[in-house]
Amino acid sequence: MERIQNLIDGTLRPAESGDWLDVHAPATGAIYAHLPDSDERDVELAVQAARKAFPIWNKMGLEGRSKVLLKLAELIERDLEHFAKDESRDNGKPLSLARKVDIPRAVANFKFFATAILHFPSEAHLMDDVAVNYTDRQPIGVVGCISPWNLPLYLFTWKIAPALATGNCVVAKPSEVTPMTAYRLSQLCAEAGMPPGVLNIVHGLGPKVGAAITAHPAITAISFTGGTRTGAEIARVAAPMFKKLSLELGGKNPVVIFADCDFEDMLATTVRSSFTNQGQICLCGSRILIQRSIYDRFKEAFVERVKALRVGDPDDAASDLGAVVSKDHMDKVLSYIDLAKEEGGSVLCGGSRVVLDGPLKDGWYLAPTVVEGLDVRCRTNQEEIFGPVVTLQPFDDEEHALALANNTPYGLAAVLWTRDVKRSHRMARSLQAGIVWVNCWMIRDLRTPFGGMKQSGVGREGGVDALRFFTEAKNVCIRL
Ligand code: NDP
Repeated sequence: MERIQNLIDGTLRPAESGDWLDVHAPATGAIYAHLPDSDERDVELAVQAARKAFPIWNKMGLEGRSKVLLKLAELIERDLEHFAKDESRDNGKPLSLARKVDIPRAVANFKFFATAILHFPSEAHLMDDVAVNYTDRQPIGVVGCISPWNLPLYLFTWKIAPALATGNCVVAKPSEVTPMTAYRLSQLCAEAGMPPGVLNIVHGLGPKVGAAITAHPAITAISFTGGTRTGAEIARVAAPMFKKLSLELGGKNPVVIFADCDFEDMLATTVRSSFTNQGQICLCGSRILIQRSIYDRFKEAFVERVKALRVGDPDDAASDLGAVVSKDHMDKVLSYIDLAKEEGGSVLCGGSRVVLDGPLKDGWYLAPTVVEGLDVRCRTNQEEIFGPVVTLQPFDDEEHALALANNTPYGLAAVLWTRDVKRSHRMARSLQAGIVWVNCWMIRDLRTPFGGMKQSGVGREGGVDALRFFTEAKNVCIRL
């Protein structure tokens, strides 16, 4: 059975503890690999390596770093099929999705930041006859990147690519639940020409490795994506140490559907925005709000489409949904379906585990589930479920739609369906969300600010925002 290794100082090595954790394949429920059960000793070694590598990485300059990151992108692209298979096996997602979205996006992340850094302008401010100011943006030093399990390589590289491009050295921790593709990446770093210690990947548990990264005094910035509760814990530890923090957290995203929308386009996209990746994308719409005049029409058509979705072997191109990521997560989602019923909801379709045949019989599969009849304030409509479960709620007019849409502690993304241009501007301004998609979902331009408001996070990733986060701005004022 394969043993995943840490990448520290350019060397692949086990944890200092010598202990191992199990890695499961969600499709079968079986253990298929082991990962190092690392702790603060491994993080300390990684920090020392990163500090040592920092001047070397910076001496390579923008072009040198850009070349290494472009080479890394090229190597992932070369091995795309292997990466996609590993991602699907590790996470349970359909292989077709990993092949089409996850791994190409990891390639795009490296390409984007490897070239963005070459075009990152520095500002100048001229004061009449007095002085000239310019902003010098320098790398921070050693930064920590902590990522979740839902889009493993996609989100891991979304953090480490800008961190490395701007000249920082990184201590990174992928999710313990899905460590395989970060390990595959670590196997390519030397071939890409990356000096030892520039990128260090420490595998293991959040409360051990993640907490050690958060608390380490030499790691002065943390970029984290994960649950809101974990984000709060990281902020509690990091804030008194005055670390820079970027927190991308949970969501409970509304999809607001007006009667004047393009019904067929909306319907097809809403099936995708509800159940892609088994509903385990922070940007999935989990609360569908429908104008009352088309509520019944939508409900009937939507439920019919959802019933037709195939839950099956992630390797089978005909599967729309694969397995959810872990048994614990499956049990959590099922407990929310029970809660929805207790709170008075009617399950229109799904609502249970799906047991497949043969070697997949112990896999963690869930039927896509649609619930109606719940109050906006109930827990099912307020708490993040992060699985293939959506609720339907009717609304009367714009004001009512906004009241429902904004009535959660979260503010990550919102989707709006209408053909009325003026309404789309009005609504987009008033929706409490960091990202608003109008008549579409998941179109991503890597230059745009990405992140949420309220309990969905602090700061923005992407484009210039990421380059700014991973640099310290210094104003230099020269008297004329
Ligand atoms: P978690 O918050 O459980 O974990 C995220 C990462 O943090 C994992 O690597 C985890 O380690 C680590 N971690 C856990 N505890 C600590 C700690 N005390 N200190 C430091 N690190 C810690 O989230 P999930 O992995 O369950 O991911 C799902 C969540 O991520 C959902 O809430 C989802 O909404 C959110 N998310 C947000 C996105 C956004 O852009 N806003 C995008 C994607 C997901 P371990 O390996 O042990 O789990």
